[in-house]
Amino acid sequence: MSFTMHGVAVSSGIAIGHAHLVSHALLEVVHYQVPKHLIDQEIKRFEQAVEKVKQDLDVIRRHLPAGSPAELGAFVNTHLMILADKQLSEDPKRIIREEQCNAEWAIKQQMDDLVLQFEQIEDEYLRERKQDVVQVVERVIKVLLGHPSQVAVKEQESAIILVAHDLSPADAIQFKQHQFAAFITDVGGATSHTAILARSLNIPSIVALQRARDLIRDGELIIVDGNQGVVIANPDKDTLAEYKLRQEQWELEQQKLKRLKLTKAVTLDGTTIELHANIEVPEDVTQAKAAGATGVGLYRTEFLFMNRREMPDEEEQYKAYRRVAEAMKGMPVTIRTLDLGADKQINPDTVRTCANPALGLRAIRLCLSEPHIFHTQLRAILRASHYGKIKILIPMLSNLSELRQAMLLLDRAKISLRNEGIPFDEGIQVGGMIEVPAAALCAEAFAKQLDFLSIGTNDLIQYSLAIDRTDDSVSHLYNPLHPAILQLIEMTIRAGHKLGKPVSVCGEMAGDTKLTRLLLSFGLRQFSMHPSHILAVKRQILQSDLPNLANAARKILGNQDIDRIEPMLHKLNLA
Ligand code: PEP
Ligand code: MG
Repeated sequence: MSFTMHGVAVSSGIAIGHAHLVSHALLEVVHYQVPKHLIDQEIKRFEQAVEKVKQDLDVIRRHLPAGSPAELGAFVNTHLMILADKQLSEDPKRIIREEQCNAEWAIKQQMDDLVLQFEQIEDEYLRERKQDVVQVVERVIKVLLGHPSQVAVKEQESAIILVAHDLSPADAIQFKQHQFAAFITDVGGATSHTAILARSLNIPSIVALQRARDLIRDGELIIVDGNQGVVIANPDKDTLAEYKLRQEQWELEQQKLKRLKLTKAVTLDGTTIELHANIEVPEDVTQAKAAGATGVGLYRTEFLFMNRREMPDEEEQYKAYRRVAEAMKGMPVTIRTLDLGADKQINPDTVRTCANPALGLRAIRLCLSEPHIFHTQLRAILRASHYGKIKILIPMLSNLSELRQAMLLLDRAKISLRNEGIPFDEGIQVGGMIEVPAAALCAEAFAKQLDFLSIGTNDLIQYSLAIDRTDDSVSHLYNPLHPAILQLIEMTIRAGHKLGKPVSVCGEMAGDTKLTRLLLSFGLRQFSMHPSHILAVKRQILQSDLPNLANAARKILGNQDIDRIEPMLHKLNLA
């Protein structure tokens, strides 16, 4: 039966493919005793499940879509090897017999043992393979639970759509390595870090679908319309044809936009606008350059710290930062110091339990309380600054005292490098993120002490409107057009201009074409966004005339009624 679901679109495009449910099967495993006379049957059930998973993996391996990255084949091979290992395919049978327990429980015991063994391995890469063991066992358990994975990987219909209840940013960053056609979840806000990562996968994504994980079956054909926030499961023939057409039109439109890659972002009246990219990992530079970004406006370094047991050391960080600086070939690279905490935890298993994580020890607060971590990162950034045009960006500043402490620690890092004769850019610029309302209200004071400001609208909205950006139950209230938000943004841009300091917006508002003219009219001249938005924003800039916008901007800013802003904005965009 066909059905439609509505959610919050976080990444545009249209995908048509088969659902792959991200399993919570491991959580469903229960332990029960199996009567002696049924033990042989239980062992048979186990053998059949292993055989079924083996066949499924084999089918996937044989039908990898043309042009799939080589890692995908290797990934399936690794899973087949893990499955064939005696500890997973043979030993559980002994456990079933000896302990007279159910098959799910037996293989789960083996998995726990194996994961422990992996955790003791010195080699970082091999240690991380424990995740593969877990994924393989999950597959077997799913079959055992009567939910056979039917990811029907047929030659013509090879697109796979991830369906999850929720994914942490740490989970999502792992999916960056694999190829999926779309990504949908039950919960999450449009500017949660998981959504931001989903966007950086550059595939259609929808969050806040409420019950997608329950209602959609594994292997079912689904349409994901990331433009409208709509998911259609089991579409009929006509709907499928309609969406295939829309998909083609969308792709054509994207091709047309690509022609703007080398066009300078200049308004009709001749004002040049900088369009920078937000990146999460060094590999994202490729996409940033392909979109014609003239710099990296926000490098979220915390993703280097996720899904691992130890922190990356100075050398590893230095190499990553240097790689980005060199790849950008003299264009500015704004490296944000660690913004860990709140919804971005290093490892979801080690989440600190605190009542209000978003208001807790995150970002610069965490760095100032763990100065050795900050020192290591600052040294790594400084060392990399010798190889490109690096700038430092400090997140979540709320008062000048934090800024002074951070600058003191930066000086210390510089002194340590000078003492060792290690070169770095002595003139490296330091900027601060304005994302706490208190900082926006004191923007002039920050602008005096810093070389530049960058407005983090995602957090600015969260903290000004008292709305958890990850909570879909209040996502309807998360409104960038709230008059208070517009005033805080305009006030910050004005403060920067007054002191001759550049101001950029690096939150999600910068990539929303409906807001481009509004931000231009507030005086914004530098935007930083996910690379997939750059060309569409550029097109909007090319069609905008700044003197024409001034009046409308004044009217919008003078208005305090949220309901009147949308129509005013509409008018501004038609001007
Ligand atoms: C923001 O808050 O707008 C921002 C850019 O930072 P992040 O989304 O990483 O919190
Ligand atoms: Mg932020």
